[in-house]
Amino acid sequence: MLILLNHIIPLPYFSHYWYNASMPKKFLNAIPHKFTPDEERLLTKALEFATRAHQGQKRKSGEDYIIHPTAAAIILGKIFPDTKALVAALLHDVPEDTQITLDEIKKEFGEEIAQMIDGVTKLGQVRLRGSKDKFYVENLRKLFIATSKDIRVILVKLADRLHNMQTIAYIPPEKQVKVATETLEMYAPIAARLGIGSWKDELEDLSFKIVYPKEYDQTKLLLESELQKRGTNIKESQKLLEHILRTEGIKFLQVSGRIKRIYSLYNKFKRYHNDLSKIYDIVAFRITAKTTGDCYSALGAIHKHFQPLPGRIKDYIATPKPNGYQSIHTTVFDKDGKTLEIQIRTELMHEEAERGVAAHWFYEEEGKPDSSERVQAEWIKELSAWQDLADNPEEYLESLKIDFFSDRIFVFTPKGDIKDLPAGATVIDFAFAVHSDLGYHMMGAKINGKMASIFDELEQENVIEIIKSKKPVKISRDWLKAAKTHGARNRIRHYLNENDKGIIQRVRELKLKDLSLPRFFRKK
Ligand code: MN
Repeated sequence: MLILLNHIIPLPYFSHYWYNASMPKKFLNAIPHKFTPDEERLLTKALEFATRAHQGQKRKSGEDYIIHPTAAAIILGKIFPDTKALVAALLHDVPEDTQITLDEIKKEFGEEIAQMIDGVTKLGQVRLRGSKDKFYVENLRKLFIATSKDIRVILVKLADRLHNMQTIAYIPPEKQVKVATETLEMYAPIAARLGIGSWKDELEDLSFKIVYPKEYDQTKLLLESELQKRGTNIKESQKLLEHILRTEGIKFLQVSGRIKRIYSLYNKFKRYHNDLSKIYDIVAFRITAKTTGDCYSALGAIHKHFQPLPGRIKDYIATPKPNGYQSIHTTVFDKDGKTLEIQIRTELMHEEAERGVAAHWFYEEEGKPDSSERVQAEWIKELSAWQDLADNPEEYLESLKIDFFSDRIFVFTPKGDIKDLPAGATVIDFAFAVHSDLGYHMMGAKINGKMASIFDELEQENVIEIIKSKKPVKISRDWLKAAKTHGARNRIRHYLNENDKGIIQRVRELKLKDLSLPRFFRKK
């Protein structure tokens, strides 16, 4: 069915060159969601509109241009089948690359969709630059403003970037490096921040290969040889796990094996100073179950049959990661004494790990009509908090980099509370993150039960115990050098300032009392 469009472009002729009657059906079938007839009509209209607007344009691959917005919309639809967002995805390149203006889109599709498309166009102007100049910072700000107005804009832009990365082979090599660097530095961290694991993984691996080809090849080789060396027979272990769960009468949905993503392995490898023996999750098994209770039962059954590795049980169900990730992780020794990492989660937790904010928002919206506004409001709050971090752009960029764009590490208090700190954080940062009083009274620390220096850098999943003194301790300037977080640095600076005042005061008092000082030194 072809809906006749208005005056914008007169129909020159019916030709499959720009329109193929099976296109809308194929498009709708590619998205695993049941649309209402009205929604289907709107999507069909958008697809035809975009097809006509891009008529005659080709991609670098030689395909008709319409392939690109259609593919981006399908990528988006798999995690977030919101009709208006899909329309925006289909039309996202129209104002920039064709004769048709945003006003014309507004007339045809309404204000809300036109605004989304405008946001996507603006995000496209945000480019990663080598320098930290003001223009760059200003653009980054616009990016977040646009985002905080409507989170769907950034979802469309991420889907657009993902398809561009999937087809990056067709553009010239120098341009590939530029696009991939920007993807690795800007887009993948945003996907991670939004908790969209499936997009983050793909964006990272596609761009890693281009930005660091040598490291990519090395890591890949290492992964392959390590898999061979460990002799990990995924199918066999999977069957064994299934067998154990079944004989123990545990309700579960699926046991699957996964091999660690190359970029994530590369990062972990760097973090553990190239010590591969410390990386337990090169192969991990994933058990999905219906309820949280079933997850804990599964954990019990696994530990009954396999000895768990001490200190490797992580309950992200009770204490989710800051981006919302939930799962129980454990590492066990199998019958041959090899280590196996097992992740246990509900189906819903799995969905959320793959789809992040998109899963949350969409499914809540379906159930409760008002909650999308609530979720949106939370994002506005969080994103504008990013903007309030500093008044001056350089500092703002710095804080963005430190707090959101660099790697995070997760460490624990002895009670199992999780603390989220930037990579490179020290015991000092940890103490002040728990409580400022703890920082001011810290005289030593234990990491994983062993005595450590308060200046030691923390590693992923360390358990840190702070040894307290009864009285506040003397804090030296060295603390400031070792502290990485704003919170710790501010508190140490505050202490040092107060302390300086105190010393000046004491020196004055001393001078008054010390009569042995030459007369002219005594305070009158
Ligand atoms: Mn595009």
